[in-house]
Amino acid sequence: MTAISRIDLQRLDIPLREPFVISLETIEHARNILVRIETADGITGFGECSPYRTIAGETQDSAYEVGKLLAQALKGLDALNIEGCIAAMDRTIAGNRCIKSAFDMALYDIAARRAGLPLYAFLGGANDRELYTDMTVSLGEPAKMAADAEKFLAAGFKAIKVKVGGRTEEDVERIRAIREAVGYGTPLTIDANQAWNVVTAVRTLRALDVYRIDYCEAPVHAADLYGLAEVKARSPIPVMADESLFDHRDAVRHVRMDACDYFNIKLAKSGGIHNALKIAAIAEAAGIPCQIGCFSESRIASSAFAHFALARRIVRHYDLDSPLMLAEDPVKGGVRYEKGGRIVVGEEVGIGGSLL
Ligand SMILES: [Mg+2]
Repeated sequence: MTAISRIDLQRLDIPLREPFVISLETIEHARNILVRIETADGITGFGECSPYRTIAGETQDSAYEVGKLLAQALKGLDALNIEGCIAAMDRTIAGNRCIKSAFDMALYDIAARRAGLPLYAFLGGANDRELYTDMTVSLGEPAKMAADAEKFLAAGFKAIKVKVGGRTEEDVERIRAIREAVGYGTPLTIDANQAWNVVTAVRTLRALDVYRIDYCEAPVHAADLYGLAEVKARSPIPVMADESLFDHRDAVRHVRMDACDYFNIKLAKSGGIHNALKIAAIAEAAGIPCQIGCFSESRIASSAFAHFALARRIVRHYDLDSPLMLAEDPVKGGVRYEKGGRIVVGEEVGIGGSLL
């Protein structure tokens, strides 16, 4: 028994270098929550989440308030009984996956630290792959988007993700400008963040086929799984489920309905590592390769994401660029971001990151 003796919540506000524009909203500040859990035998674990109101249905304020309820529910429980802790959180309040993921992360940090292992090893993985994050171009005017893409290419990034989600002609113009700027040697993916209906999605993806797009995230509304399945069936560009896929139950629905070619796993959607491992298992069984994605987390959470990626081979795409968009890095330890988006995972125990 490793009893949870103390839990602290902290707001973590960090400005972004530039506004991050997606079809759903514009983010200028990361307004995150940090969770710090201590055990009676002296181990401290850290977790972090970044609530996006239009996707998670949570804000920093709501996450902070719900976090207080979750902290009450967990006090005195065995930190190593992660399944029991998650059940206690789910009994306390439905949904609220984003703030729950920060608690889950801190619990896994504690478990891995107690085992004396880096998180990837605690989860049964190996630090035997090179991780390179893509870099995301915000939604905007084609010329500005092309200039951003060119800048990322010059900085050495190996893959570029592009936010889209307008009329067909607008999105085609954006991608045409970007391909003209960066050529065809760089893998390009796009993300509509649910902006299209089925007709627009199919028409746009057919028009974009000549620009060699690896896959498109979230073409239609998150609730429209039938629509997603139809887009998948009719689009020449593969489809990745993102906002429609929160937890493992959603993963089963996507598989049953043959609704997508790829999963985008985010701990803030699944409720943390515990459920994300279940999604990865379903993906592996169904033959669906996964991306690990992010919101606007600092290197505390992004370290956990990188460890998770190393723990499951079905995770093959890395969209972990959020720390690169932040104007400050208040994190000590954790993964290192090198030139060109290479993410180096060290051998520190646990997740490795803590606040300065
Ligand atoms: Mg997405």
